[in-house]
Amino acid sequence: MNRLLGEISRRDFMKYCATTAAVLGLSELEFATRVSEVLAAAPAKPPVIWLEGQDCAGCSISFAGSLNPPFASMILDRVSVRYHETIMAASGHVAEAAYHEAVEAGGFVLGVEGSIPTADDRFCMVGGRPFREMVEEAGAKAAAIIAVGACAAYGGIPAAGPTGAVGVSKIIKDKPVINLPTCPVHCDHLIGTILYYLTTGSVPPLDKLGRPKMYFGELIHDNCRRRSYFDNEQFLTDWNDPAQKNWCLYEKGCKGPDTYADCPVRRWNDGLNFCIDCGAGCMGCAEPGFYAEMSPLYTAESERSLNIMARKAAGLIPPLKEKV
Ligand code: SF4
Ligand code: SF4
Repeated sequence: MNRLLGEISRRDFMKYCATTAAVLGLSELEFATRVSEVLAAAPAKPPVIWLEGQDCAGCSISFAGSLNPPFASMILDRVSVRYHETIMAASGHVAEAAYHEAVEAGGFVLGVEGSIPTADDRFCMVGGRPFREMVEEAGAKAAAIIAVGACAAYGGIPAAGPTGAVGVSKIIKDKPVINLPTCPVHCDHLIGTILYYLTTGSVPPLDKLGRPKMYFGELIHDNCRRRSYFDNEQFLTDWNDPAQKNWCLYEKGCKGPDTYADCPVRRWNDGLNFCIDCGAGCMGCAEPGFYAEMSPLYTAESERSLNIMARKAAGLIPPLKEKV
């Protein structure tokens, strides 16, 4: 197994397999063994095409920050990245030729980062062509399609502007699109989804918004360590008051009661921390409507925030202890 896992230590790989294994109903050891068998039996590393539209490349950076497994091990040992504008050495006509060759061959995993403009194709052109055409063309030949990050999933921040930005599933309608929102994508979500596909040959179970249930099945609010303060209506109003240090961040714009994601348990940066434990409210970046419906981010005046309090007043957000 060590040869197959390349630079990934056995301990780190087993730790990494935990979430995906549970979804498949396998033990971590069974899952790790299954991944190794699949990779060993594969005639070649699965090809990947990664397109970038209206984006900031933050999802590429988040992917590159993966520690378990290391990013370099993932892209050099596990998959064959045929086209990725940010990390590929080629440019210009050579890069375009690599893209067309990979699309022609088909059977690749397509990752799309960034949204697609619908108000006017000229808002996003790549190699002299509308980005929308590339998404349609590559999507038609892809074996699996992953919308990487909030912009590719639902339009994200660009959807708050004039470009008519939409997510991939509004362009490709005849195939399942796996949505991995959050801004940026969480590298665990991306690598876990790729591993799931390599291991099973299928798309993971998705919720009605196209998100893998294994990562987006629970409300942030239900796993938040500040939850008892929300139930007691102790809302932080002054970040400089030590007495309020651990209080609920709803008044500071937290959208945790309206956001499904595993951030409180998975956390970010190799499990180091996440938004709410840093003292900032959840911005709802895993939900459609981010950013426009979540703004303003740091007060409870957004459409979503008002909806949260209306539901609380109506008893639709019962105290956590009543749910147990
Ligand atoms: S509103 Fe935000 S900070 Fe408050 S309990 Fe819910 S998720 Fe936690
Ligand atoms: S806590 Fe909220 S804003 Fe922060 S990454 Fe998770 S979903 Fe996005």
